[in-house]
Amino acid sequence: MLHAALSLPGAPAVMGVVETAHAIAAGAVRASDVAAAALARIDAFEGDLHAFLHVDRTGALAAAERVDADRRAGLPLGPLAGVPVHIKDMIAVAGMPLTAGSKMLAGWTPPLDATVVARLRAAGAVLIGKTNQDEFAMGSSNENSAFGPSRNPWDRTRVAGGSSGGAAAATAAGLGCGGLGTDTGGSVRQPAALCGVVGFKPTWGRVSRAGVVAFASSLDQVGTLTRSVADAAALYTAIAGSDPLDATSDPRPVADCAADLTEAKDLRGVRLGVPIEYLDAADGLDAGVRQRIEEALATLAQRGADVRRVSLPHVRFGIAAYYLVCTAEASANLQRYDGVRFGHRAALAPGATLDSLYATSRGEGFGPEVKRRILLGTFALSAGFHDAYYRKACQVRRLVHDDFARALRDCDALVGPTSPVCAWPLGAHAHDPLAMYLMDIFTVSANLAGLPALSVPAAPHPASALPVGLQFVGRAFDEASLLRVAHAFEAARGPCAWPAPAARSE
Ligand code: GLN
Repeated sequence: MLHAALSLPGAPAVMGVVETAHAIAAGAVRASDVAAAALARIDAFEGDLHAFLHVDRTGALAAAERVDADRRAGLPLGPLAGVPVHIKDMIAVAGMPLTAGSKMLAGWTPPLDATVVARLRAAGAVLIGKTNQDEFAMGSSNENSAFGPSRNPWDRTRVAGGSSGGAAAATAAGLGCGGLGTDTGGSVRQPAALCGVVGFKPTWGRVSRAGVVAFASSLDQVGTLTRSVADAAALYTAIAGSDPLDATSDPRPVADCAADLTEAKDLRGVRLGVPIEYLDAADGLDAGVRQRIEEALATLAQRGADVRRVSLPHVRFGIAAYYLVCTAEASANLQRYDGVRFGHRAALAPGATLDSLYATSRGEGFGPEVKRRILLGTFALSAGFHDAYYRKACQVRRLVHDDFARALRDCDALVGPTSPVCAWPLGAHAHDPLAMYLMDIFTVSANLAGLPALSVPAAPHPASALPVGLQFVGRAFDEASLLRVAHAFEAARGPCAWPAPAARSE
C-alpha cells in the first residue's frame, strides 16, 4: 500500500484519515502518539520539501491530548477525532499566521477560524500547520510563493505543482493524513496529480468560503488533498454544506459520502465520457501520460463502465476565458491590500502623499505574478476594453458551461488527464507565464462550469516513474457519484508501485 511505502525507519507507518480515525476511536493508538509521529515526519522531511509555512507543534499536541482525555472520559468523539490535517495558507486558522504565500500579509495572524476550519475542529481533527502555496494562489508550480517553493517528494529537483503545492507535497510525504487546499483553476487537482495524491474540488458553492482569502470569487472553491478517495470523502463530508457566513454557499443537503464508500462497487451501468479535446486532440499531452490515461480508461471499461468519446467544442477557449475572468476578479479582490485597510504598509518619509503610500505598499508587498494579474485584470475591465475582453470571456464561459451540461446529460462523469505533463524541474517554466498557464489546460474548465472534479493517481509514468493524475468531472452537487466512480477506479488500479519519497534524490 502507498502508506506502507511511506513508512520512515523508526517512525510508525503513516495511516490515512479514515484508518487513523478508526484506530483512535477503537483505542488502538493514542491521538497524542499520532500527532507526535506526524510532527516527527515533518522534522524529517520539511527541510527538503518546504511544504509548510507554519507548524503548530504546541497546538497540535494540546488538541491531540484533549482527544485522548475525551476518550478516557468516555465522551463521544467526532468523526475525525485525532486526525492530523494541514490547512493551505489561504484559509484562516485562529492563532496561526496567514500569509497567502505573500509578503503582503506576512506577520498577520487571524483572530477567527474559517468555517471549514471550525468544522474540522468540531469533527475532532488536529490542525498541524499551514501549507505553502503560490502567492494568493496564482500559479501552477509553487514557485510564486514569496517564501520559496515546495519541492516534489518523489523528486526534490522538481516542482510540487500549484498553487496548493505544499498541501500536495505534505500529503504525499505523509506529513499528516491530508489537508485542505483551494482550487480556482486547478490548484487542488493539478498539484495532487504531480505529487501522486487525490485532489478533490467540490461543486462551486458546496463548501463555505467564509474566512478564505478571495482570489477569483466566481471560481474559488475549497477542496481536499488526501492519499485515498475514501479519505477525500471523509474530509469533504466534514466541511461541506451551507453556511450563514457565506451567502454563496448552497443550501442543498450533503450526502454522507464517506459512509457510501465502505466497499468498492463495480461500474456496470456507469457512462463515462472521454472528451476528445482532452485526449485524442489534446495539444501538448505527453505521450507517457496519454498511455497511462488510455490504460486507465481500459481499466474503467473492464470494471463495467460504458466508456465513450464526447466533445466539448469550446474548452479550447477555456484557458483564455479563465485568465480573463480570474484576473478581472483578482484585480477587484486584491484592491483591499493597500497598506491602509489591509496588508503591508510601506515606510515613507513624512509628507508623502496617500497615493504614494498605496503605490509603494502594493509595489513592495506583491510579487511579479500577482502584479501581472492585477494589471491584466484591470485592463480587461477598463472602459474601452470591457466588452472586447471581460464580457467576451463571460460569454465563452457560458458556452463551456453548456458543453459540459450537454455531455453530462448522456454521461454520469467525464474522464481524462489532470495535467498534460508530470512534475517538471524547478525553474523550467518560472519565467514563461504562458507555458505555466497552459499547465491548467485540463483543469480550468471545471471551474468555469462550477462542476465537482477530482484527480486520482493512475499508474506512474512509464519512463520517469513520476505520478500521473486521472481527472473525473461530475454533475453539479452530485459529489457522491463522482467519489463512487473514483473509488471504484482506485480499487481496480490497486496499489501504485511508488518509489519511496526519499529514494529518488538521495
Ligand atoms: N494555476 C492556476 C492559476 O494560476 C490555478 C490557480 C488556482 O486554482 N488557485 O490561476
